[in-house]
Amino acid sequence: MFRRNRADREFREAQRAGQAVLAMHTELPLPDAPGPVAASAAPAATVVPDFLPPDFRAPSRQDVSGFMMRWDLPLVIDGEVHACHCDAYRNWIVFNMRDDSVWLRCPAGHETEETRLDTAWYNRNSGPVDHFHPTLEDGLHHLGH
Ligand SMILES: [Zn+2]
Repeated sequence: MFRRNRADREFREAQRAGQAVLAMHTELPLPDAPGPVAASAAPAATVVPDFLPPDFRAPSRQDVSGFMMRWDLPLVIDGEVHACHCDAYRNWIVFNMRDDSVWLRCPAGHETEETRLDTAWYNRNSGPVDHFHPTLEDGLHHLGH
């Protein structure tokens, strides 16, 4: 399929550039969450010249390195509020990568894999994808980290 080939090529090129292509899920509308941002915020001159505008791309798990979303509330895992080793317990970024792993990033930037969470959990708790980001940093910036 043409689309699949394009996605594969984009992914290889992004990998070659040492960059992650991440999609972002919207989260529950919280007061301090960033609102929708115009598509011009994304792009990608350094990644792929013919990168389609986000509006024309239907996201699928195969197209991206992973998904990410904000999680501003305390994160309860197995009945306990999860805390980072630095004592942060809210304002997380949650990642769900292509290998089904789930990673948590605290406001101080500590990133750890959380093996008690998985893709099924992520899908139950995430909204629709509304942005693609050419780099991890771009996604984090968009999410306020
Ligand atoms: Zn931390």
